[in-house]
Amino acid sequence: MNTYHIHIKGIVQGVGFRPFVCRLATEMNLNGFVCNGNNGVHIELNADEITANIFYTNIINNPPSNAIITDHHINKITHKEYIGFIIQQSDKHADPDILLTPDMAICNDCIKDITDNTNRRYGYAFTTCLNCGPRYSITHSLPYDRCNTTMQHMIMCPECGQEYNDIYNRRHYSQTNSCSNCAIPIHLYSSQDKCISHQPDEIISIVIDELKKGKIIAVKGIGGYLLLCDATNTTAIETLRQRKHRPAKPFALLYPNLETAAKDVVLSKNVMAALSHKTAPIVLCKLKEVSKTNIQVNLIAPHLDKIGLMLPYTPLLYLIAKGLAKPMIATSANISGSPIIYKDEKALNLLFDVADYVLTFDRDIVTPQDDSVILFTEKEQKIILRRSRGLAPNYFPNPFSLRNKKVLAMGGELKSAFALLDNKNLYISQFLGDQESFESQQSFTTTLNHLTDLLKVKPETILVDKHPGYFVSQKGKELATLYEAKLIQIQHHKAHFGAVLADNNLLHSKEKVLGIIWDGTGYGDDQQIWGGECFVYDNNQMQRVIHLDYFPQLLGDKMSLKPRIAALSLLSLIPQHLDFIKSYFNETEWRYYSKLIEQKSNLQTSSMGRLLDGIASILNIRQVCSYEGEAPMLLEALARTCTDKQQEHYTLPIINGCIKWQEMIKEIIQDIIDNKPSNAIALKVFNSLAHSIELISEHTGINHIAFSGGVFQNALLIDTIIENLEGRKQLYFHQQLSPNDECIGLGQIACYELSLSTSLSSDNKLEEL
Ligand SMILES: [Zn+2]
Ligand SMILES: [Zn+2]
Repeated sequence: MNTYHIHIKGIVQGVGFRPFVCRLATEMNLNGFVCNGNNGVHIELNADEITANIFYTNIINNPPSNAIITDHHINKITHKEYIGFIIQQSDKHADPDILLTPDMAICNDCIKDITDNTNRRYGYAFTTCLNCGPRYSITHSLPYDRCNTTMQHMIMCPECGQEYNDIYNRRHYSQTNSCSNCAIPIHLYSSQDKCISHQPDEIISIVIDELKKGKIIAVKGIGGYLLLCDATNTTAIETLRQRKHRPAKPFALLYPNLETAAKDVVLSKNVMAALSHKTAPIVLCKLKEVSKTNIQVNLIAPHLDKIGLMLPYTPLLYLIAKGLAKPMIATSANISGSPIIYKDEKALNLLFDVADYVLTFDRDIVTPQDDSVILFTEKEQKIILRRSRGLAPNYFPNPFSLRNKKVLAMGGELKSAFALLDNKNLYISQFLGDQESFESQQSFTTTLNHLTDLLKVKPETILVDKHPGYFVSQKGKELATLYEAKLIQIQHHKAHFGAVLADNNLLHSKEKVLGIIWDGTGYGDDQQIWGGECFVYDNNQMQRVIHLDYFPQLLGDKMSLKPRIAALSLLSLIPQHLDFIKSYFNETEWRYYSKLIEQKSNLQTSSMGRLLDGIASILNIRQVCSYEGEAPMLLEALARTCTDKQQEHYTLPIINGCIKWQEMIKEIIQDIIDNKPSNAIALKVFNSLAHSIELISEHTGINHIAFSGGVFQNALLIDTIIENLEGRKQLYFHQQLSPNDECIGLGQIACYELSLSTSLSSDNKLEEL
């Protein structure tokens, strides 16, 4: 008889790994132990060589469904004699080397428990098991044990304890286990200091009744507070918009189940699978012509043809949704532009400005997260729009060959998310919002500190964007001093290209790849504002080969919320058409802006986002936006209403490395003068962009094309590209990350790795500061 040690890394904690090993060992009559460590799961056992190998192979080949194994070893060690097989206390000595288990939506077994009136968990709002419940959001240190979570103070009742210790129970060693006898205390407030109930059943029935009456209720979820109200009640939604100062930005909906959702939206197979998945994201779905549940579409998503919806991912939300039996608005509870509120004290302090009631409970949230958002195009291409709860913070498999390096990439300023490479493991934070407000900056810093503390990482290299004014880049500089780390700047759009290469495992591709990087803004190598860029990747190097022809950047960053300013900038270069947009300004404005363009701005932009904004203005779709991306979203929705699937396109020639957009703008204006329907013009614009990509591909002679940048959140554009080019070109879209700036952190590491694996050309040389 020998003694063996097995070490397994990956997502192996909080997913029922120890109970699974314990059961298997017991079935095979093996003696030894299993335990959690900071670097994974450790097992020791007595067995002969053949049995040990059968046991080992069994674990590796059939792990629990939510586990991901990244690395595993078996070694023969000095003999020790074990009696029985046990789960031993966790070992905290090693350095952390583990993937972090994300939060998981309530599983079907737990739904059965809370809806079966003979079950002891009937109606219990915090039911969890090994297969579901919060993990990352409640973990304050490693390894994952109850004492290292925000449930540390709670003691299990004898029955829960029995389940916990029963190796055949699905709550064996479930760290989040509780029931109504040892319940997580729950509270309903009607004002900051007036708690009206602590009674779980009573609270849920009051919440349902008040929702029916049109009240707005703030309910604590997994990653923060949500604001709920009846999505069929006009007054309730109008009140919510007024109180939240949110005139038009669409709200997401929470449906009690798929059957109810099917009454309002088109549910493809992929959409249903995504909605029911343990990550439980918001999925943008195409609205049916008539809403059978009577949701107030015009108030929920004004002028759009899609709504975001999700299914209840916590038992509490499930019980409320089931009781109400109608779709609810479920939107992150925050105060105008600030991050999601996740602390009870702050919720009670601030949320009564918006909500009539606040529902809290005594399981703290350590890591705030918004709901993740995804969509599928009509051609079933998946696009991640926001990567957060359920998806963050692991990135697996790690696409980098950099080993034994600790690299922190600070990401971009808007749609911020940082990336952290810790030896073999790669983490990408949840979406951390736009770093313009102090609260967002605080939240970024807190999340970053939490992750580096949790993993005990001290970065040796810090990567930042080239933009001199970014908060995240300033923060990166501070940290570089603190950690005595190397600080390196990476250009924004090269980072985008690096990200889509890494996301498709193309980082050291032998083939040349064309990168079409179209977004709103990024600071260029020539100090201009880039955003309509084409790069060629060849042998670990990137080169900018074509870009959208420059036009003046007016009003700095404010240009992005004012499509008419983008139009003005475009038309300032086609002065004979300037008067076409004069009516979008009053006289004082027109005089002011006419002077502004005469002054000849030194700052130029090649932004594709601004070109689309300008077109939306010329078409008089929107002149001033109330949220980021509104104009292009409306342009897309408008184009989708065009039933005449014409293949016409505008002229977008490539001359001297520039995509000349001037001719297209003239032709659009002519089409408007000729009374061509605006939806046909909008569709023709997207056709033109797809056609332009084909021209770029021909121009460069490269047939492998990768896409990144916020413009590629546009489902119609993606489908038009697929329709025109699939089969003839190899197309690469983002896989695990969003094409928007959330991918910049990953891309910064990609560019860093490329710079290390090439003799640097001047274009690729990274500037160390
Ligand atoms: Zn469960
Ligand atoms: Zn209990």
